[in-house]
Amino acid sequence: MVEMKGMNKYFGNLHVLKDIDLTVEQGEVVVIIGASGSGKSTLIRCVNGLEEFESGHLKVDGHELAPKSGNPKALAEIRKEVGMVFQQFNLFPHLTVKKNIMLAPRKVKSESPTVADATAERLLSRVGIGNQADKYPSHLSGGQQQRVAIARALAMEPRLMLFDEPTSALDPEMIGEVLDVMRELAKEGMTMMVVTHEMGFAREVADRVIYIHEGQIVEQGKPEDVFDNPQNERTQSFLSRVL
Ligand code: ATP
Ligand code: MG
Repeated sequence: MVEMKGMNKYFGNLHVLKDIDLTVEQGEVVVIIGASGSGKSTLIRCVNGLEEFESGHLKVDGHELAPKSGNPKALAEIRKEVGMVFQQFNLFPHLTVKKNIMLAPRKVKSESPTVADATAERLLSRVGIGNQADKYPSHLSGGQQQRVAIARALAMEPRLMLFDEPTSALDPEMIGEVLDVMRELAKEGMTMMVVTHEMGFAREVADRVIYIHEGQIVEQGKPEDVFDNPQNERTQSFLSRVL
């Protein structure tokens, strides 16, 4: 589903991603961990073209993204197929919950209002807030808003979902309800790349955990191997701080 080979990314002189080789198979759940500033967000933002990269190869669901956004056609396809959920929910404040979810299917896929409406209703029930459809985002809790954001991404029927610290802005009591939705998605076979500090979630849901240090993948493996028996001393020291 995702193939990165020798990918390098700079912000000016700052070498943020260094020779990244990473393959994500269809249906796989990959959790990315690492210290602040290590390049986790940049890595997943490259996957849907929110960031350009300078060299290397990146293929998403068969579409090759050239360095320096050299392939706008592939980029447009990828944007349709890849859903993303951010730390800040980024809902449109002037639209109701349901309208937030209907927007992209209506605009991008030219779905009829009836179809888009039915999809929105179905997805809202799926994320457990079927009764909130006509509210505005500001009238929902953080956990509810994040579940709307997930439903909005799912409305485009993505082949891959990217999550960048989806629970980091939430009050502790709301983290669980968002992780539950993500866990369900994983169970249903969604391919997912997840940046998170929720190590319990990573241990339970990830097929593979990737540890990034200063823009390099220094360790990866099954959660039990990475968490219980890390081989790299950087990973050991990171985990001793967060576990
Ligand atoms: P965090 O855990 O704090 O979210 P991260 O692992 O997601 O960190 P990135 O946001 O990917 O880290 O940032 C990697 C490096 O690139 C950092 O040194 C950061 O300061 C830098 N950086 C990120 N975005 C930009 C930008 N738009 N312009 C310049 N430098 C940037
Ligand atoms: Mg980040």
